Formats: sequence, C-alpha cells, structure tokens
Amino acid sequence: MENHSLIMGIPIPKITMGETVDLIDEVIAENKTELFHVVTLNPEISMSCQQNLELRSIINDAEHLTADGAGIVMVSRLKGNPLPERVTGCDLLINLLEMGNRKKWSFYLLGASEMTSKKALEVINMKYPNVSIVGRHHGFFEPKDESRIVNEIASLSPDVLVVALGAPKAEFWIHTFKNSLNARIAIGVGGSLDTIAGTVKRAPVIWQKLNLEWLYRLIKQPSRWKRQLILPRFALKALLFKDRNGL
Ligand code: UDP
Repeated sequence: MENHSLIMGIPIPKITMGETVDLIDEVIAENKTELFHVVTLNPEISMSCQQNLELRSIINDAEHLTADGAGIVMVSRLKGNPLPERVTGCDLLINLLEMGNRKKWSFYLLGASEMTSKKALEVINMKYPNVSIVGRHHGFFEPKDESRIVNEIASLSPDVLVVALGAPKAEFWIHTFKNSLNARIAIGVGGSLDTIAGTVKRAPVIWQKLNLEWLYRLIKQPSRWKRQLILPRFALKALLFKDRNGL
C-alpha cells in the first residue's frame, strides 16, 4: 500500500493525527539543529501551488505535510487512495499542547493580533500548565522588525514555533528564516490562536464530524465567502488532476 496520497501532485503522508503527534514527538526528542517544517496543506495552498512555483518549492522542501480540510480527505477517498483523516492546523496545535503538557515542551507563539496573542498565552498557561511559552509576538510587524523577532526566537530555542500569520504567509516566513530560527519544529497554524483565545469560535464537534466545518465558518464569518468559492473549484480540479510522478 502506498504511504502517500497525491493531491494535485502533492504527496501527503497517509498518517493519522495520533501518528503525526508521535512523529513530532520523535523529532523533538532527537533535538536536531535542522528545523522540521510542518505544513498543514489546505485546498487553497494546493491550488496556489499550481501557479506559484515558489510556494510549490517551499511545500516540496517541507519535512512533513498534513491533510488540512475535509476537501483534501474527500478528494483522496474519491481517487481511491484515502488519507486516514483530517489533520488540521488547529487540531494539531491542540494535540501538540496536550503532548507538550505531558513532556514539558517549550513553545513560541508568533502571529495574530496583540490582543489575541496575549489571550492565547493566558488560556494556554491555564489549560496546559507544564507547557512553557518562552515568548510570543503579534503578527502585524514591519519588515524592519523581522531580524529582531528571528533573533529573539533563536535565543529562546523553542521546541515548537507556532506561526499564526495565515497561509501561505506563514509557510513563506518559516522557509525564509528556516536556518536561523533555532527551533525544533515550526508549523503554520492559520487562525488557531484566535480559536484558542476564543476570539473566533470553532464549529461544534458534530459539525466537524459531519465535515461541515467550512459551512459553519461561512455562516459565522460571511466575509469569507469569496475565499470559500475556491472549495468547489478545488474539488473539481483535484479530481480531474492527472497525478503522474507527484513532486
Ligand atoms: N495574521 C497575522 N499577520 C498578518 C495577517 C494575518 O498575524 O499579517 C493572523 C490573523 O490575525 C489570524 C491569522 O493570521 O490570526 C489568519 O487566520 P486565517 O483563519 O485567515 O488563516 P488561514 O486560514 O488563512 O491560514
């Protein structure tokens, strides 16, 4: 059985959330100097990769990809090479905080508004008391602040660098500074800090189980409708995509 499923030519490992967390646990335990870049691949990134070759090469260089979204899993099933389940950025972050709480990992939070970042820090400190948030910075900085932020992260050497700058900004950012961040893992997590902070509500579990989280988000944040137009286009394109040799 193949260990990857190809989505628009991009090979996504067929592993569950539990296996993903175990993989990250192993990487952190190895304590290597090279950064392990995890990309949670959603339909928008998959589509952008078809035209944006720079993004495509970043995805290609990433150490691990996860299936971020019901659409990705659905396409893999319809193409007969199913991914076991969704591994979204938000769920993965929560799972890493839980594992981190058991293993005393350190995290750095980069991204979201100052208010969200502060609130997320408070919530994490309360819910996961053994996790140490060694630093944080909001995500609305100027290019001139970048080297200061990178140096700060490097000096703190976190196990997990959480980058909540939105996709694909986070992926570009991590890739640009990959060799200077001195973190074990870096992961782009979209709006997850907003969810942890409670500024954006996640869909109730039943909606998530029915693969209708996208519909819930659309109802709650109607301004996202333009972004969500991409979902049917993605499904069609990905189903018709002739997967040849992958990346
Ligand atoms: N964000 C940020 N800096 C920016 C743009 C966005 O920190 O320059 C944050 C924003 O506040 C939010 C997250 O990035 O917390 C993006 O969330 P979204 O749900 O749009 O993520 P996506 O699904 O696009 O990855």
